Amino acid sequence: MQFTFSEEQQAFAQSVQRFARAKLEPDALARAHDPRFPFEVAKLMSSQGLMGITLPEADGGLGGTLTDAIIAIEQVAAACPRSADVVQFGNFGPIRTFAEYGTAQQKARWLPDLLQGRVVMSLGISEPDAGSAATELKTSARPDGANYVVNGSKVFSTFSSDATIFLVYVRFGPGVGGIGSVIVERDTPGFTIGKPSSFMSGEEWCELHFENCRIPAGNVLLGPGGFKKQMAGFNIERLGNTARSLAFGRYAFDKAREHAATRHQFGRPLCEFQGLQWKFAEMAIKLEGAQLLLYRAAANADRGMPSAYETAIAKAACNQAGFEVASEAVQIMGAMGYSQDSLVEWCMRRCRGWMIAGGSIEMMKNRIAEHIFDRRFDQRRPKSAEAAE
Ligand SMILES: Cc1cc2nc3c(=O)[nH]c(=O)nc-3n(C[C@H](O)[C@H](O)[C@H](O)COP(=O)(O)OP(=O)(O)OC[C@H]3O[C@@H](n4cnc5c(N)ncnc54)[C@H](O)[C@@H]3O)c2cc1C
Repeated sequence: MQFTFSEEQQAFAQSVQRFARAKLEPDALARAHDPRFPFEVAKLMSSQGLMGITLPEADGGLGGTLTDAIIAIEQVAAACPRSADVVQFGNFGPIRTFAEYGTAQQKARWLPDLLQGRVVMSLGISEPDAGSAATELKTSARPDGANYVVNGSKVFSTFSSDATIFLVYVRFGPGVGGIGSVIVERDTPGFTIGKPSSFMSGEEWCELHFENCRIPAGNVLLGPGGFKKQMAGFNIERLGNTARSLAFGRYAFDKAREHAATRHQFGRPLCEFQGLQWKFAEMAIKLEGAQLLLYRAAANADRGMPSAYETAIAKAACNQAGFEVASEAVQIMGAMGYSQDSLVEWCMRRCRGWMIAGGSIEMMKNRIAEHIFDRRFDQRRPKSAEAAE
């Protein structure tokens, strides 16, 4: 067992660090407060080989590992946290599921634009009545000749303001076995995108409405029975969200460390107060512990799909560590940490969202408990209870 990166990984980390410091750091603050998807960063990253790191070379990717993509998130976030969202989009998000299961025609049509940072893809799973209980989704896809007709609504989709392509989970039939997914393009008749709403982080999301929205059968990504595969792909997305939580916590930690070493009160630097030293020690314990869980999940998956258990335990730990550390960093930096002139408060707000998004911490803990007891705990109300009413 080794706890250091290989020479190749270290060289990659250094080259991403140089790029991020030179090209991304100067506008980091403004970029974080702009809700629009940073297409200029996506194009830059594409030319730098940071999009499609984990995708096969045959698909226009680089054939790298999940660990490589996590290294990219860490190095980019250390210079410009917001730009790490682009690494997420280009390597972990719906693009990864799409590349894994898409047909040759689908990939030829959409992957080049996605990988070159010209268009962004949004993922529609959540619905007004199907959040944590994602399998209760109602959005339907009904065959009609050479087409499918989609009806329903989605909420909270990241990048929905800017996306050109939407990967939408739909129901082809009843039960979990009836769930699959389709690709819907923004300008498809019958597909309307509501006004943007804002999360606490400043990110925007729009309601998506499908009303007799007709898409060609060639836009089906995974037909009935595709849910398990989609969830396997979604574990990769979870790792990207996990990595950003940790990287944003680390960013806040570094800023607070710098501040505590240089800011004087009562005639001495803040870092000489034991009350703050112990905060830093606790923050380091949280970050380092969570980081090992993240690396384990990524390294064990390598080029494949990460295990659901290792992903769940890493996500819960990193989401919690990222938020708690960023929140402590705000406290340590006082009013400067709370001010929008530093990115520390922004990191805290972003980390808060990942405790809910992509499978909440509670849902991750449910998954961990199933692993511990080696049995499935159905979260649904037993049918017998419903029948008794
Ligand atoms: C920043 C952000 C980005 C997002 N991006 C996307 C996106 O791109 N695409 C998309 O489709 N969705 C997205 N979402 C939505 C996200 O997937 C849902 O918010 C999440 O699945 C939880 O659903 P919910 O908000 O409806 O909460 P609910 O499911 O209503 O849950 C409310 C609370 O109850 C808890 N809870 C629910 N069931 C259980 C249980 N069985 N055991 C214990 N606790 C439980 C939850 O953990 C939560 O704390 C995003 C959300 C956020 C915050």
